[in-house]
Amino acid sequence: MMKKWFATPLWKRVILALGLGVVAGILLGEDANSIKWIGDLFIRAIKMLVVPLIFFSLVSGITAVGDIGKLGKVGGRAIGLFMMTAAISVSLGMFLATLVQPGAGLTIDIPAGSQIPPPPDQSVIQMVVNLIPDNPLMAMAQGSILPMIVFAVLFGVAILASGSEGAPLARAMDAGSAVMQKMTIIVMELTPFGVFALIAWVAGTFGFEALLPLGKLVMLNYLGCGIILLIVYPLMLRLIARLPVKDFYRGIVDAQAVAFSTASSNAALPVTLRCVERNLGVSNSIASFTVALGATINMNGTAMYLGVIALFGAQAYGVELTWLSYCLIALTSTLGAIGAAGVPGSGLVMMSLVLTSIGVPLETIAFVAGINHLLDMMRTMTNVTGDATVAVAVGRLAGEIDEREFRSADDV
Ligand code: ASP
Repeated sequence: MMKKWFATPLWKRVILALGLGVVAGILLGEDANSIKWIGDLFIRAIKMLVVPLIFFSLVSGITAVGDIGKLGKVGGRAIGLFMMTAAISVSLGMFLATLVQPGAGLTIDIPAGSQIPPPPDQSVIQMVVNLIPDNPLMAMAQGSILPMIVFAVLFGVAILASGSEGAPLARAMDAGSAVMQKMTIIVMELTPFGVFALIAWVAGTFGFEALLPLGKLVMLNYLGCGIILLIVYPLMLRLIARLPVKDFYRGIVDAQAVAFSTASSNAALPVTLRCVERNLGVSNSIASFTVALGATINMNGTAMYLGVIALFGAQAYGVELTWLSYCLIALTSTLGAIGAAGVPGSGLVMMSLVLTSIGVPLETIAFVAGINHLLDMMRTMTNVTGDATVAVAVGRLAGEIDEREFRSADDV
């Protein structure tokens, strides 16, 4: 039995767990709460990996690229693709919400007991200033990922620039990265159990009555993410990477399952990295660099969602939108998606940035808060799949993808 379990590819075990989790949740109802601790244990175990994994992967990824000119090229391509997909996603969100009008004719009743999350307590300028950590160790200890990335990038570049003097440190970073990846493999064995418990908890305790008045909104978000997943990413894979979509999806399914069940790009990051490198054959340097950066700044599902909610709020409150408002939504949604941390619910917090810019009352946030988790699961899965898509595209453009491995994407 044990032998059979371990001989089955992880992605098959995870899908089985997902299906069983839904059934268990429906059967157990509220009692499913009692097994949520298994999911929490799993989330803590993967979160434990995130800070050291990002640090070692980024630094060793940068030093492995070898020269600063090439690094600029790889980084430029990755960021360019992140921006392009974000722009497509917000536009798609606004287009769908204009077409379906999910907020039209709705009177907003704020569900009892719900609170409006406080807006991010910083101006855009302060956000930029905070990108530079005044103490990198503190940034790591507090899990402030973006400042830590800035430090890791500079650290990697400095090692490269120090030539033979820095070389021993580069080797140490490689070793750190290899060890963290081994640790990821160990922790990933918990995935089926964690996914089972989390999905059972969501299916058992989610009040489906909350869904009814917002059914259109839920459908629209799932539809938008579905279009990104089934049309936008496949087009990028075909047109830029010229690789088969089916193998891509088979290789990334573990990361998608973790993203869906935890609603956290950060929590999924170790698994995403592993899938991109091992299943999709992207070189270690490109995978480490692109995926670690993407998990923090590339959130297409979130960008699409922010676009949809902005229009939803405007429709529900009868706020007139001009061309300028649409441009502001596009801009603030993209910034919000970049600024959102890869943790559950951060998109909801960023919504205040978008709504304020076009004068839609912030009560809209409390209104959608009840269904946030359900939407968060799907948009996180979309975010994470986007990181992998960009990593494959950048890997292909740099000629650093093992096509045989990609085509035989099977198990982690
Ligand atoms: N939970 C999402 C993520 O981690 C962010 C969001 O709330 O939109 O990618």
